[in-house]
Amino acid sequence: MITGTGHVLILGGTTEARQLARTLAPVPLLRVTTSLAGRVTQPRMPDGEIRVGGFGGPGPMAAWLSEQEVAAVIDATHPFAALISANAATAAAAAGVPLVALRRPGWQPGPGDRWHHADSLDDAAALLPGLGRRVFLTTGRLGLAAFAGLDGLDFLVRSVEPPEPPLPRRTRLLLDRGPYTVEGERELLRTYAADVLVTKDSGGPATAAKLTAARELGLPVVVVRRPAPPPGVRTVPDVAAAVAELQRLGCLSPGCLSPGAIPGAAGTCP
Ligand code: NAP
Repeated sequence: MITGTGHVLILGGTTEARQLARTLAPVPLLRVTTSLAGRVTQPRMPDGEIRVGGFGGPGPMAAWLSEQEVAAVIDATHPFAALISANAATAAAAAGVPLVALRRPGWQPGPGDRWHHADSLDDAAALLPGLGRRVFLTTGRLGLAAFAGLDGLDFLVRSVEPPEPPLPRRTRLLLDRGPYTVEGERELLRTYAADVLVTKDSGGPATAAKLTAARELGLPVVVVRRPAPPPGVRTVPDVAAAVAELQRLGCLSPGCLSPGAIPGAAGTCP
């Protein structure tokens, strides 16, 4: 049986962070804390200990890591949560605590996809008038000011929490949270008569169905590229690889996790 040593901090807010917490929480002698930003009113709560709210920047975060005797930090935040990732890199370096970033791979276009890449939400907004009038906008509740000047377009905005103004003048709001199915997404795109879909390159299966549905319907998709990760941070693509990193760092004893120990994944042994 795998046992642990010390305290692991998971920076959370993603499916992978919850999966990692569920995998690590039962490990004997390991303390596991997940940190949430506290933006969502009813977050899905991870297993293990939880702390909620910003740290107050990299300085206070470094102090927290030292006070709480954190042995390793896994930054499992969303690929677009660039500020907390940068802060974590600075704080971990200052506190002398190893940091590993868990980043699900980005999506890749397949045959039949009509993707247009954008470097930012502003770039995405600039592309839209050439692609269609009715826009299904799924980039989240923040940063929608980039689209606010597009008075000639209609928007269906989907987000977990209500978005912050300013919003485009002709906006309909759909408050919802994944995972979504291809059937559901196809029906939504058809009912709304969408001409174009806008998404961040979030990666992962929970919100990928919209891409399949857009392909089936022949719709163009504007895909916003990810921000660059902080330089020099070791990055792994999935929960199994994060577990292996924790073993390498001495927070977990060597050994294999059986299939089922990592939700939705195979075990950690070949
Ligand atoms: P952000 O812009 O990178 O961070 C803004 C500030 O929020 C940080 O400086 C930090 O405050 C605080 N913060 C963010 N994540 C935190 C965490 N896990 N624990 C404690 N404090 C945190 O973050 P964001 O893009 O608003 O994302 C916020 C949360 O939502 C993250 O946990 C992320 O995983 C999740 N999320 C984000 C997206 C997205 O598209 N951005 C999508 C799905 C989920 P202090 O400086 O005070 O420490």
